Amino acid sequence: MAKLLEAINLKKYFKTPKGTLHAVDGVSFSIEAGKTLGVVGESGCGKSTLGRVLIHLLDRTDGKILFEGQDISDLNKQQLKEVRQNMQMIFQDPFASLNPRQSVSEIIAEPLQIYNRIPSKADLEKQVFSLMDTVGLARRLANSYPHELDGGRRQRIGVARALALNPKFIVCDEPVSALDVSIQAQILNLMQDLQEERDLTYLFITHNLSVVKHISDDILVMYLGKVVEFASDEEIFEHRLHPYTKALLAAVPLPVYQPGRKRERQLLQGELSSPINPKPGCRFASRCPYAKERCLTEEPPLVEEMPGHFVACHYTKEINNL
Ligand code: SF4
Repeated sequence: MAKLLEAINLKKYFKTPKGTLHAVDGVSFSIEAGKTLGVVGESGCGKSTLGRVLIHLLDRTDGKILFEGQDISDLNKQQLKEVRQNMQMIFQDPFASLNPRQSVSEIIAEPLQIYNRIPSKADLEKQVFSLMDTVGLARRLANSYPHELDGGRRQRIGVARALALNPKFIVCDEPVSALDVSIQAQILNLMQDLQEERDLTYLFITHNLSVVKHISDDILVMYLGKVVEFASDEEIFEHRLHPYTKALLAAVPLPVYQPGRKRERQLLQGELSSPINPKPGCRFASRCPYAKERCLTEEPPLVEEMPGHFVACHYTKEINNL
């Protein structure tokens, strides 16, 4: 299948009073059209920054972004406007991302108006209603305001707005984290249905591994700006190889009681290293139970340890008896 999006050695640094924060530090991956790449990691690992850099909400520091094989790393204003039509974002907090002074129909219509897609008022209204139908929002809510709706409905507005320009790629930044558990499944199912109907490609950012399992084809695990593991969804859940992924997954409850299956308990201890002027070596070393001298001085490269399964650890074979 064709790659829709590719990141090559992507970097995003921020200048801070204490030094340079390496939020995204040499990240490479690709996503096939129609697939979902789940990006997981703890808060502050750079996953949201990565999503924003990919769709040019933030300028990158270095590296390349390819979309449908074309280099879109450096764009002028007009080119950016064109590319943006195909790359949208669904935000974590629908309340904060929606303009409280706009009605539901105005929020959904706005991207269509900015791009002058549907000049006639009657057609615009039809299109807004069609988008509301698509995401399961009752038409009677067209004149309501975000504060009058519950979290699930607000997130449906966010999804409708993201779909308005018929994009190919959507960055979903913790789209269900702010919702009640009962509503989360509804929104995830909606997103999966839309993906099938519209052949959408998602970058799905979350700290919640139960959510990522539900929706992803591949999973990329980030730690302090670096990719530490990348593999298919089944592969990561069955044969996680990196010590950090093991610790993350140890916190996920087993879906059903499985007699004889023991949970791999390996809770994270030790201090989180600073992403500001990071030290040489493995960034996970201060919390890794397997760390050795070499880990403090030599950064582990991302290596294909098994077909399609990439890990950044000097001791993958030893730790996993491969
Ligand atoms: Fe742990 Fe060393 Fe592997 Fe890093 S390189 S994950 S510190 S064993």
